[in-house]
Amino acid sequence: MPSYPAEPFRIKVVEPIRSLDRAQRLAAMRTAGYNVFGLRSDDIYVDLLTDSGTGAMSDRQWAAMMLGDESYAGARSFYRLKEAIGSIFGFRHFVPTHQGRAAENILAKVLIQPGQFIPSNTHFDTTEGNILDRGGRPTNLAIPEAAEASNPHPFKGNMDLARLEAFIERVGAKAIPLGMMTVTNNGVGGQPVSLENLRQVSAIYRRHGIPFFLDACRYAENAFFIQQREPGCDKLTVREIARQMFALADGATMSAKKDAIVNMGGFLAMNDDDLFQKACNELILREGFPTYGGLSGRDLDALAVGLYEGLDEAYLAYQVGQTAYLAQRLLDFGVPVIQPPGGHAVYIDAGAFLPHIGRDEYPGQALAVELYLEGGVRSVELGSVAFARKDEHSGEMVYPLMELVRLALPRRTYTQAHLDFVAETMGRIAARKTEIRGYRITYQPRLMRHFTARFEPL
Ligand SMILES: *Cc1c(COP(=O)(O)O)cnc(C)c1O
Repeated sequence: MPSYPAEPFRIKVVEPIRSLDRAQRLAAMRTAGYNVFGLRSDDIYVDLLTDSGTGAMSDRQWAAMMLGDESYAGARSFYRLKEAIGSIFGFRHFVPTHQGRAAENILAKVLIQPGQFIPSNTHFDTTEGNILDRGGRPTNLAIPEAAEASNPHPFKGNMDLARLEAFIERVGAKAIPLGMMTVTNNGVGGQPVSLENLRQVSAIYRRHGIPFFLDACRYAENAFFIQQREPGCDKLTVREIARQMFALADGATMSAKKDAIVNMGGFLAMNDDDLFQKACNELILREGFPTYGGLSGRDLDALAVGLYEGLDEAYLAYQVGQTAYLAQRLLDFGVPVIQPPGGHAVYIDAGAFLPHIGRDEYPGQALAVELYLEGGVRSVELGSVAFARKDEHSGEMVYPLMELVRLALPRRTYTQAHLDFVAETMGRIAARKTEIRGYRITYQPRLMRHFTARFEPL
């Protein structure tokens, strides 16, 4: 058996969960239209739908919440968060937001004009949505290895530098109001970006006078991977690496629901005074006064403490070790997963696992349903249900690179026994996988269909 990192915490508060029997699970799944988003959390045993806002806060974070200052303006909580963000990220300004997409919305509003291009390694879907909403054109330029499931490249999240140069050359720097990088690169499986790649990207953007923003949701996991994998970085602390990463950028958006281990929160940080002024004006319109953004004082305090805890190296070794453990156990059952495993999730290659199910019959959806029926485990499909699109011009279906099912690990929440349960559930499914059938869609909305679509087994 692969080794499991012992938890660097003990459990002080528990939340009961229960396991329904198979008949009850089948009834729940039918009611949900065979869509895991339609399930009630009470009907789930191990919930790996997302790592976003689902982590366990520490005793210190809960204690900090009691110190929350709910003053409308100038609250102590704001200044504690300002101290944390200033000392970790080093940016001169920030505004709190209720979550990551709100920070993206404000950034897009103040910087992007219709028709402009925004390159990144891979934009997250909400970032892409906010750019499109402003009439901008999000462009993904990840290295080709990112699309190769079993390629063990240590920094599969990297930007393809030659393509970035050629892209800027082609559209012209004037048409690019900002450039981005997502760390870790969520869209390709939570894969890290190397410090060297960040340096090069920063140099390219700077040479062309393009402001550089990091999508920093999982910056701490990314910094930890740099420490573990990048030559010459093993003597640096994760915090020093993070500081070097942010020194290369002009600002950052962050969903604090990831590496700051809070249930809700985010921020937009930057150095530029003029941009800060504009962001404050937008913030007041959309989120709230600049010293609270979309959050209450107690949220700001939990976030300030969570930022430091998310950088703790024993915690990071455990978090990344949990993902690696689950990935290895799945591989041992013959289940193909994206390698190396990312920081926050294990991605099963459902297309390779269920080759008898065609892409138009949604192998990822079939596997996500099966995981629930077999063990009450909730995962999420990130394949053709989520991403396939009919091309507007040709009318042909455009499929994503892979048919994936993601098992995201909420931080500090599940134990080794839970992960063993998930792996063994998958093991039983693997043993009878040829019996699994595909699905057809009976209802779908125009956009973001995976959240509300309904299905029928074939
Ligand atoms: C979650 C996430 C976001 C959006 O954050 P929300 O808090 O969900 O609005 C943006 N980028 C990445 C990489 C994310 O993982």
